Amino acid sequence: MNLNIRELSSESADFRSELEGLLAWDSVSDDAVQKAVTEIVEQVRVKGDEAVIDYTNRFDRRQVSAATELVISRDELAKAKERVSPELVASLEAAAKRVFDYHERQKQPSWQYQEEDGTVLGQKVTPLDRVGVYVPGGKAAYPSSVLMNVMPAKVAGVEDIVMVVPTPDGFVNDIVLAAAYIAGVDRVFTIGGAQAVAALAYGTETIPKVDKIVGPGNIYVATAKKMVFGVVGIDMIAGPSEILVVCDGKTNPDWIAMDLFSQAEHDEDAQSILISPDAAFIKEVKASMERLVETQSRKDIIKVSLEERGAFVHVKDMDEAMDIANIVAAEHLELSMDEPEKWAEKIRHAGAIFMGRHTPEALGDYCAGPNHVLPTSGTARFSSPLGVYDFQKRSSIIYCSPEGASSLAKIASPLARGESLEAHAMSAEYRLLKED
Ligand code: NAD
Repeated sequence: MNLNIRELSSESADFRSELEGLLAWDSVSDDAVQKAVTEIVEQVRVKGDEAVIDYTNRFDRRQVSAATELVISRDELAKAKERVSPELVASLEAAAKRVFDYHERQKQPSWQYQEEDGTVLGQKVTPLDRVGVYVPGGKAAYPSSVLMNVMPAKVAGVEDIVMVVPTPDGFVNDIVLAAAYIAGVDRVFTIGGAQAVAALAYGTETIPKVDKIVGPGNIYVATAKKMVFGVVGIDMIAGPSEILVVCDGKTNPDWIAMDLFSQAEHDEDAQSILISPDAAFIKEVKASMERLVETQSRKDIIKVSLEERGAFVHVKDMDEAMDIANIVAAEHLELSMDEPEKWAEKIRHAGAIFMGRHTPEALGDYCAGPNHVLPTSGTARFSSPLGVYDFQKRSSIIYCSPEGASSLAKIASPLARGESLEAHAMSAEYRLLKED
């Protein structure tokens, strides 16, 4: 199959604007979607279960008459696990353990220190009470998303983890439920889309209000998450998935072709880019892709994704490749080259960095350990992978000894008067010790 993939060269005078055009992505901007989601969120807020049932029947083509039909208990999750093949259960368990172990290292303890006069200052770290995990289920099922969203919450110590997953036409995916059981989810609700996000944000008679909603979803889910932010916390607004492979030209071209496909097969909007200083190698990878795409069950999606949003970028050397990688700030960055650790030092912006020829993104997607929920669309410039820190919050601790209060009052009261806040100044001055 011929693939008509964009080819850019850093030598071209228009390179910067071509690169900008390649990376441009306008997320959550559709007026019709905004209008539909506003209506759904408001109806769920006002009518609770009744609206959730209506929308679930309409969008997921179900015939639910009572909200109790939307609940899957932990016992039922255990039964779903029994229906999954032992080989798959073993993989889910092994992946869950690796993801748990990795995230254990992210856990932040509370801390405090004491000053000479006895004043104690610190930070108390507390897990969120209840979290809602959105697991997409419209077009495909994502058991790996269950593990990646739930395990960091577990490590953080969140007591109540509820999950929502749509079941179009009533089809329940046992692998997703088995993953939920293994990850330690407390309850699952078979709802999706904007109605699920609204139900978690406001609570209904059946669905508990949560403190934070995490997990990816389609445009209805993303728009609803943006809308309820403030009522609850959210993790991020994920755009289409991306991979940027930087290769020195010495990796097997078939490997690179498959790594690019592994992103392109997600959906038509996914973005796969190869950067190399070796023009002949880029041609070899293209030939591999044209040969291998025929073998792929999702070849139609791969073709659209590569032709609409994919690119080969020829650069003059590896230093320039790193500069461009920092501009792209990719969700997934593969450094397929000798001495990847040396080049990784130059990378400042990337969701996850996959180092060396033997580290395809796919291993990170499932089981290496780090989280696969990563900042997309260049947001790695200012944000991080989903982690334990997303499920912990911090409270400042301040204890003043009488001597400490007195010395702080001398600093605070002029500042308070400078802001014309008399009560602040007096409150501080009441703590002045006489001998001071
Ligand atoms: P989904 O669960 O996100 O959406 C399904 C729901 O969308 C349905 O239950 C329905 O309520 C709602 N919906 C559908 N059509 C609607 C309409 N016309 N009006 C109102 N609501 C409507 O599942 P999906 O659609 O398969 O999308 C999954 C998304 O999640 C994809 O974009 C995929 O790329 C993404 N994803 C991302 C990651 C990641 O880590 N970034 C992982 C897995 C999936």
